[in-house]
Amino acid sequence: MILDARIPGGPIQDKWDRHRFEMKLVNPANKRKFRVLVVGTGLAGGSAAASLAELGYDVDAFCFQDSARRAHSIAAQGGINAAKNYQNDGDSIWRLFYDTVKGGDFRAREANVYRLAQVSAAIIDQCVAQGVPFAREYGGQLANRSFGGAQVSRTFYARGQTGQQLLLGCYAALSRQVGLGKVRMHPRTELLDVVVVDGVARGVVARDLVTGKLSSFAGDAVVLATGGYANVFFLSTNAKGCNVTATWRAHRRGAGFANPCFTQIHPTCIPQAGEHQSKLTLMSESLRNDGRVWVPKTPGDKRPPDQIPDADRDYYLERKYPSFGNLAPRDIASRSAKEACDAGRGVGPGGRGVYLDFRDSIARLGRAAIADRYGNLFDMYARITGEDPWRTPMRIYPAPHYTMGGLWVDYNLMSTVPGLHVIGEANFSDHGANRLGASALMQGLADGYFVLPNTIGDYLAAGPFEKLTADHPEVVAARRQVEDRVTRLLAVDGDRTVDSFHRELGRIMWEYCGMERTDEGLRKAVVMIRDLKDEFWRRVKVPGGGSDSPGGLNQALEKAGRVADFFELAELMCIDALHRTESCGGHFRAESQDADGEARRDDENFSYVAAWEWTGEAPVLHREDLVFEYAHPSSRSYK
Ligand SMILES: Cc1cc2nc3c(=O)[nH]c(=O)nc-3n(C[C@H](O)[C@H](O)[C@H](O)COP(=O)(O)OP(=O)(O)OC[C@H]3O[C@@H](n4cnc5c(N)ncnc54)[C@H](O)[C@@H]3O)c2cc1C
Repeated sequence: MILDARIPGGPIQDKWDRHRFEMKLVNPANKRKFRVLVVGTGLAGGSAAASLAELGYDVDAFCFQDSARRAHSIAAQGGINAAKNYQNDGDSIWRLFYDTVKGGDFRAREANVYRLAQVSAAIIDQCVAQGVPFAREYGGQLANRSFGGAQVSRTFYARGQTGQQLLLGCYAALSRQVGLGKVRMHPRTELLDVVVVDGVARGVVARDLVTGKLSSFAGDAVVLATGGYANVFFLSTNAKGCNVTATWRAHRRGAGFANPCFTQIHPTCIPQAGEHQSKLTLMSESLRNDGRVWVPKTPGDKRPPDQIPDADRDYYLERKYPSFGNLAPRDIASRSAKEACDAGRGVGPGGRGVYLDFRDSIARLGRAAIADRYGNLFDMYARITGEDPWRTPMRIYPAPHYTMGGLWVDYNLMSTVPGLHVIGEANFSDHGANRLGASALMQGLADGYFVLPNTIGDYLAAGPFEKLTADHPEVVAARRQVEDRVTRLLAVDGDRTVDSFHRELGRIMWEYCGMERTDEGLRKAVVMIRDLKDEFWRRVKVPGGGSDSPGGLNQALEKAGRVADFFELAELMCIDALHRTESCGGHFRAESQDADGEARRDDENFSYVAAWEWTGEAPVLHREDLVFEYAHPSSRSYK
């Protein structure tokens, strides 16, 4: 079946303005009659909840952390893009649009990306007005730096803690509405199912993570802003709590899951140190502004880096991609690192690392300038590795980081289930097969501050809707199903920990559905995942009590539910990767590469978004054909 994204007509630069004019509005006096459930209060959900309440809607907001301020968005380091052209270096809405479509390897929807570029400038103004302390030039102008896949400097930043500062601004806006009684905040509350009545999203079932109590919440619309699923790999740069449960449960209730195999492996992470590690740490892409990536020219060269002269070093990104150099996009930089390591030129334990070297920039700019730009990142690296990056180059290696796939949404950010909207990393919308650095924060805040507050009105204007009560059969049924699942997880009472299953699943995914995928490997992975899932349901051990226990705090139970969902998602990721026999962006099929080892797209057969429908058996593929009227698909060269 072909999906209709409901993209407005007219020239691309006029679509959003025209659409805003043509959409139905909810009268200001009527807004308070609608209740919107916003699940997730990271940058996407927090900005949406605050903006919707500011408009007059009543909002219930949920997060599983103890405070909205602890959402994973807080970890974002490097910056946020916007087409302000403060540097006068040739940036424009068109250029940001083009860079994003090209960066995504021509697998994103043009109209959404153009809108994103259009509203990007307003995001910066909004955040500055909230007091976000962006870095500034000496004269007071906001500073910019470069990120991968762009030849202009358009990234706004607050040292290496941009996400934290943006989230504090967003949290202030949210808190104001909590104080005014317009937002009811439910921290430490985890969505475990979506309530769908007559095909329309009308509520959620959630578990209080402190008491274990299950409750249902009814609303006129549901918004999922629940982040990405890179933790399916177990080891990733994401916070440990990030998971797929909210979007996966919605998928099981009818929401199409789009491009699940489009995952981003980030090139600059601290290499894994051992088998028992449970988390990987990102070193921001911004470091590639001043750090040079290299490996020894000769395989097996074990000399310490300071004893390897320039003539014996291979600055491979500068060599292979002279016009973008160290700022080649992530998918390309990651694959190049793997290639160097596979050729025996990797450095550090196991040869799974490449150098990121600041020697030349420290000599050129001085230590103070580098400390000013990246001081906290240098400290973090030193603390984690025990090595001093001021003296010896950092060692980095690619790691799972971001997921471009997610629930399918139309131009209004609504999923295939009417009333269910999806924003931020949780949707699939804007980044195609590879996201450019500093564009996730831009998309999350565009969705939350500017797009959804407009488009949700178009949906709600069809109301008022019949009020839903806790004794409605669909609510009762959804709650009972959640209860049964909790009971089932506890009842297995096996002999293997949840983490041991998750770790093993992660290894399968990294090996067969990671940086390089093959037909044979993916088929093997599907079988292995199914076997491991069966074993999980026979052998998992979840100690402690469930929802009926006096103190229902049970982190093993929380993890078990999330890992059970990761199993199902992992299978779909492999099925999606298997069906897409082309290479594009982060999805590299070994069978589809050119003579230089670069990804070879197949526009004739795969220029579409793959949205999968849950059936309980084999998933069914629905396509959204991608039409490129403005950014014409070309071979993606960064040379
Ligand atoms: C280390 C790191 C650095 C990064 N740096 C940058 C950067 O510099 N620039 C950039 O643009 N991007 C960066 N990114 C990507 C970016 O941070 C994320 O894509 C973005 O913050 C996601 O925001 P979000 O609001 O969609 O989701 P999140 O911030 O992940 O928030 C998800 C929310 O959903 C809630 N939630 C999830 N599931 C449930 C559930 N079942 N029930 C209830 N609540 C739930 C959580 O509690 C949380 O509130 C970085 C990512 C990482 C990992």
